[in-house]
Amino acid sequence: MVTADEALEMILDNVAALGTERVAILDAVGRVLAEQVRSPRDIPPFDNSAMDGYALRAADVAGASEARPVALKVIETVGAGTMPRLALEPGQATRTMTGAPLAPGADAIVPVERTRMAGQDVVEILASAEAGAFVRRRGEDVGLDEAVLSQGRRLTPADIGMLASLNRSVVHVQRRPRVAIVTTGDELVDIDHIPAGAEVVNSNAYALAGAVREAGCEAVILAIARDRLEEIRDRLGEALAFDAVLSSGGVSVGQFDYVARALEEVGMRELFHGVAQKPGRPLAFGTIGWRPLFGLPGNPVSTLLCFYLYARPALLRMAGRRDLGLARIGARCGVDLKLSAGLTDFVRVRLERPGGETVAMPTGAQGSGILSSVSRADGLLVGPAALAMLRAGDQATVLLLAADAAADCEPFFEDRHRRQKN
Ligand code: AMP
Ligand code: MG
Repeated sequence: MVTADEALEMILDNVAALGTERVAILDAVGRVLAEQVRSPRDIPPFDNSAMDGYALRAADVAGASEARPVALKVIETVGAGTMPRLALEPGQATRTMTGAPLAPGADAIVPVERTRMAGQDVVEILASAEAGAFVRRRGEDVGLDEAVLSQGRRLTPADIGMLASLNRSVVHVQRRPRVAIVTTGDELVDIDHIPAGAEVVNSNAYALAGAVREAGCEAVILAIARDRLEEIRDRLGEALAFDAVLSSGGVSVGQFDYVARALEEVGMRELFHGVAQKPGRPLAFGTIGWRPLFGLPGNPVSTLLCFYLYARPALLRMAGRRDLGLARIGARCGVDLKLSAGLTDFVRVRLERPGGETVAMPTGAQGSGILSSVSRADGLLVGPAALAMLRAGDQATVLLLAADAAADCEPFFEDRHRRQKN
């Protein structure tokens, strides 16, 4: 049996990024960029107006005010998408819309709100302007050949917009693992079957598929394997067409637990079987070539926690991600917790903030069959292997199951009254 730390280290030492592929940028949000993206041009490519207004020479309107307006001759009107035809001489202005190029000879924009018309082609300027006022300079967003997006970053919607503005409709990203989910058990029935007698609905397949997808990977649920060596072996054989394999159940010491043997028979190099932790003690892990295989214990809680703690970091590394672990925070234990000496305990907890301080409260019975205790949990409190007890008020680490679980996720209103109403 290995420790939880040893298990994670062995897993991470034995998986690597899968390689890259080209995808349309609309499919690239959340993907890991596999190239450095440079700009083939200045953005914006020309000086342009930040406001609807008048392009003019700042020197012409020095000292202009409401009381002492400066009259300029309007020589042309330029909308966004058109080039000015005329260069500006002293005493002239070009009516210029937001985004339209600045007329040659102009060095500032005065917004239309600080002007008034005084005849057909004459505008009165009611305020002075600094040179450069309301002008968006060529290249002020991105310069020619500037590195815009670095390799390894996770693409955000703003990044997708940047790529589009660089005319990149397709981009190189890290491939993300396609994961096979193999569930085993004579008691299991499919989701559309109402269980009778000793039957159990195959919930692990769905919990795991959901967790795989949440991690940004693809999940494929294979047909349930009965507790027979050949059937499990066949199903694992099918699963080897995928980048990673998650099996559930049959990996403990029961009389019908054939998964470890089946994994061996399909050629897995076993790295460990058994982790000094609770829950999830029977976890097995190994590789076939570069493919990782996880023999997850069948108890619904153990399956899911082993996924979060061990399979998820492996899949993220395969997808080229660098942030492999769950977000973690410090919290105080809300109650006395009896721990299993010699095992790392992962206790399902809810986070509360009675007085600004974060307190972790167990979500009820901690049996490894009680899936609702995970459903209700914000995170997993780590009970160190060396301790037999954590007392109420003791400081502990909590691994967050949802990144936003402990954050303030109320809709944001600057105004307190609106906030209360909502
Ligand atoms: P095992 O690890 O095969 O000994 O299973 C341990 C417990 O988990 C048993 O109560 C099983 O019925 C339950 N179990 C195993 N696989 C699943 C599954 N796919 N969905 C829901 N429960 C399961
Ligand atoms: Mg079983």
